Amino acid sequence: MCSKRDLNRNLRHCAPSKALIKGSHQMMLRSVHLSYGFGVSPFLRCNPRFCSLASLPAIASLSQSSISASPWRSPLCVPCPPSHAVFRAFWMSSGGPDTRPDVVAATGPAAAPSMFQKPKICFCHSCGNPTKHVIPDGEEKIRAVCTVCGKIHYENPKMVVGCLVEHNDKVLLCKRKIEPSYGLWTLPAGFLEIGESAAEGAARETLEEACAEVEIISPFAQLDIPLIGQSYIIFRARLKTPHFSPGPESLECALFALDDIPFDSLAFSSIIVTLRMYIEDINSGNLKFHYCTINKRPGASPSDLRGFNVDYHLRS
Ligand SMILES: [Zn+2]
Repeated sequence: MCSKRDLNRNLRHCAPSKALIKGSHQMMLRSVHLSYGFGVSPFLRCNPRFCSLASLPAIASLSQSSISASPWRSPLCVPCPPSHAVFRAFWMSSGGPDTRPDVVAATGPAAAPSMFQKPKICFCHSCGNPTKHVIPDGEEKIRAVCTVCGKIHYENPKMVVGCLVEHNDKVLLCKRKIEPSYGLWTLPAGFLEIGESAAEGAARETLEEACAEVEIISPFAQLDIPLIGQSYIIFRARLKTPHFSPGPESLECALFALDDIPFDSLAFSSIIVTLRMYIEDINSGNLKFHYCTINKRPGASPSDLRGFNVDYHLRS
C-alpha cells in the first residue's frame, strides 16, 4: 500500500488549469519560440519585444545535467505494457488549444521512455476490475474502460502550484530530498489538493518543503507542459517571518541572489523557465504575468536544459 506521502511524492511535479487563461485567446500575443538547442525545432522565431536574446548565451552555456530522474510511475497502477499506438509527431505550437492526439505508449527508436509516457489506468476506480483500452463509441481517443461495469476513465493533466518567495532581493530555493531530481534545486511546489485554491496550495507546499509561512503577492506564471500532462501556476510570495528550514522532502533551503541561482543544478524545466523570466523582469524593472508552453523533448530528463523549448504566449 502506498501512503499518502508516497502518493504525493509520485504525483509531485506531474497538473490542468484553464482558470488563469480564461479568455486569454483574446489577449494572446504573438508567440515567441525560443530554441535551447532543441534539435527537433525546425526554426527559430523570436520577437525582441517579448524576449531577451541577451539571456540566450547564458542559457546555452549551461552544462547539461547528468542527473537523471527515476522512471515516472503512476500512483494509481503499474504502467501497462506498451500498446499498439505510436508516439505521434512532436508538436510545435504557436499558441491555441492543444488538440493533438494523446501522446501514448511508444514503440520504435523514437519512443518516449517510460518516464514520459502518460499513465494508464489499469483497474477500475469504481469496482476494481481490470480495464481495457479502447476507443469508446462517439469518442476519438483511446480510453481506459472497465471490463465489468463499463465505466470510462478519463486521464487529465494535473496542476502543480508553487511559490517564488522573494526576500531581500533573493529567492528561496529548496534542494530536493526525493526523486525525481534528488539533490537538485527547485522552487517550493507540488500538486494542488482537492479543496484548496491554487494560492492556498502554493503556500501549503512552501510550508511543507521549506517550513516557511508566506503571503501570496500575485500570480507570476502559468506554464503548461503538455507532454507530461502538467500545468504549473507559480505565485510571487513574501515571507511572513524571516524563518525557513528544510522540510521532510528537502535536503536544505536557502535564499539565492539572482546572480547566484544555480542554473546548472535546477530540478525541472519549469523552474528554469520561471527563474529566467523572473530575472528578465527584475532586470527590466517590469514584473508581469507570464503564460507559456514548455515543449519537452521525449526522453529528456526533467532537468535537461536542452531538453525543451518554450512558446511564450502572453507577457502582460
Ligand atoms: Zn468497473
